[in-house]
Amino acid sequence: MWFVIALVGLSAYGVPQAVAIAESDGPPKTHDVEPQEIAGSQHLAESPNFRVHCYPGCCDARKMAQVCETWRQHLYQQWEGQSDYRRWNSRCLIVIHRDRNTYRAAVGSGGQTSFGSTWITSAADRDKERRIDLLTDARGSITALGHELSHVVLADVMDGKLPLWANEGIALLADASDKQARHENDLNHALRFQAAFRCSELIALDGYPSADRIPAFYGQSASLVKMLCRRGKPCEFLQFLKASDDMGYERALAQTYGIASMGELERLWQDFVARPQPSQSVNAVAVDEMN
Ligand SMILES: [Zn+2]
Repeated sequence: MWFVIALVGLSAYGVPQAVAIAESDGPPKTHDVEPQEIAGSQHLAESPNFRVHCYPGCCDARKMAQVCETWRQHLYQQWEGQSDYRRWNSRCLIVIHRDRNTYRAAVGSGGQTSFGSTWITSAADRDKERRIDLLTDARGSITALGHELSHVVLADVMDGKLPLWANEGIALLADASDKQARHENDLNHALRFQAAFRCSELIALDGYPSADRIPAFYGQSASLVKMLCRRGKPCEFLQFLKASDDMGYERALAQTYGIASMGELERLWQDFVARPQPSQSVNAVAVDEMN
């Protein structure tokens, strides 16, 4: 039986931007990666891991495929900590929509306000299907690719076993700095009005919270992921999640980060959010730059 993971961003910005855990990280640059074999036309192109559909007049699908390969390579290096990542057996389908009507028809109810949506089957890698739908924003930029592709890569690396707070928290770090700042504002608002989650409550969620707590959920998930990743390498955060699945959060926190208890995690995080965080660069790419 096939199980489908569908993740729809509330809004999205940033292509292509680094998962800027360390301030020294820059955005993935096309010239930093191996040239990819890309075939096709302006509207439909294939690279080793992607099949890209662009509506006429949108952008060059071949250049978009290269951007996707760059992001993919960057994300595997960032989160798996190695460069010998595997090639997908079937290409991830990237569909760039002309308008919200076609986008909403493709992604369903979450398509009313979002700019990106991910659909992944949880079959074994050989049979896994991956699809990302994207919508350009009012400025003509494709802004959600890094966020949505983070979900796709993480589903592979973690074999689908990724708690929601970590899944969204990691993906939010691939968004541009202005969107990250909005999530941080949401978190600060929730903290001011005692509407934030306790860390133990956040990581125990097995689904999205009620609508009134969604802003706090996104803001706090990004913040907690950022704090833990800064205590080591990003790939160690995924090792922590794998260990948590085996031995529970408390023991995994102690083993990976030397954090003795949930109470200490809460204290460390409260201290983290009380300090101003460095801003991150914006690296959105306008569609007309890919023509
Ligand atoms: Zn997401």
